Amino acid sequence: MPRIVINNGLVVTMDPHHTVYAHGHVVVENGVISAVGPEAAPASSDDMIIDGAGCAILPGFVNTHHHLAATLLRGVAPDRPLRVRTSTETPSMRLHRAQGEEECYAGAMLGYVELTRSGVTTTTDSQSPWKGMGKNDGSLRAANESGLRVVYSPAFVNRTEMVPSEHHFDVDEAITEFERLRSRWSSGRVTVIPEVMSLPRGTDELITRLAQAGDGRMAMHLTYSSEFAAWALQEYGHTAIEHLDRLGVLGEGFLGAHPIYLTDREIQIYADRGAAGAYCSVSNMLIGVGHLPLMRMREAGIRMGLGLDYPNHTHNFFETIKMSLLSQKQLAQDASVGDHGEALRWATIDGAAALGLDDRIGSLETGKSADLQIIDMKRAHLWPPLSGLSLLVYGGAPDSVRDVMSAGTWLMRDRRLVHLDEQAVMEHAAAMQARVAEAAGIHADPVLPDGWTLGG
Ligand SMILES: [Zn+2]
Repeated sequence: MPRIVINNGLVVTMDPHHTVYAHGHVVVENGVISAVGPEAAPASSDDMIIDGAGCAILPGFVNTHHHLAATLLRGVAPDRPLRVRTSTETPSMRLHRAQGEEECYAGAMLGYVELTRSGVTTTTDSQSPWKGMGKNDGSLRAANESGLRVVYSPAFVNRTEMVPSEHHFDVDEAITEFERLRSRWSSGRVTVIPEVMSLPRGTDELITRLAQAGDGRMAMHLTYSSEFAAWALQEYGHTAIEHLDRLGVLGEGFLGAHPIYLTDREIQIYADRGAAGAYCSVSNMLIGVGHLPLMRMREAGIRMGLGLDYPNHTHNFFETIKMSLLSQKQLAQDASVGDHGEALRWATIDGAAALGLDDRIGSLETGKSADLQIIDMKRAHLWPPLSGLSLLVYGGAPDSVRDVMSAGTWLMRDRRLVHLDEQAVMEHAAAMQARVAEAAGIHADPVLPDGWTLGG
């Protein structure tokens, strides 16, 4: 593998000093960053030399919460609130029920194409296992082919009608299935950790046993609605976070997705235990719930990253960065809350810290893995150049990302994916979506808003 020398770029390191080099360099050797600094680095004819002039070089973005297989289903079912109790007969649930191993693979692969185009080099993926359907094997096959770094969590349930009871794993079966998935699919880039989808959907025994199997690592959806918060008080006699704390599963390896409705006491417990979280601003807006108090959680010392989540309909990570920042200003009704530098931290080094990976990724520093992106700043929406970094947060878009690298391997060069056949992925996704829609009894083509008419 030749040495890769990227010269003359705006190098945004995201190191502890927030160092930026206006015309700097990044050198990559054997998948690792071997030098970062000002001015052009010396290079030889044996090196691969990349001209970064007019470009920003950033760490790859880190997406801390998602459901990639659901990419196949996006936009098909009508927008509905997410309830604690969910009928299996909604269009959305019929679609999920029809999605088996190959359909999960196809959806996840389409998601990975978009993630790469959006500059994301590390993502999580959560998929609920349905006994006998191979959903997780499909999603994990995609994770391994994607070229991205993936923290993957099979999200077990054992007390919800969201998954029909014949597809539930009992507790012993869940442990066996988790260990099978972990041993089959873990690799240098893919880490498999356990998840119980959420408190209303899993018993205490399932939660504690899976946390033990994950050696302290665990993912879970937290209090995403006021209905959920009220349910926890009624079910346990105390709040959701207090309950998890009593179960002994909150710790540095715990990753909670979009905990929105938290009391001050819950935030303090969460911080004291060192647990991490993911803020999914766009998804929260789509399901019509409130906004996570990101600034308060960060002030409490909680490691917080950003997540795309499903429903979202897109893997545009720039949109999520912008919305996460704007929502906090709106929540505080104060324009001075947060700035674009802080938002870039959330998207990179803070996300890496939330996943426990900040010793390896999240910034451009010597010795870290070469997970990075090169953004073409000579685009109308990122121009004029004086305010480039601010525009990147407020106006950035996936089509400004020119090159993407994971551990020194190019995933995208000059906006063409190197490792995946994008056209084949799209065609396969269309075929699998048609199969799922047919099985779910959804025949409209295209799906129209309620009350619209397809003429001819
Ligand atoms: Zn989720």
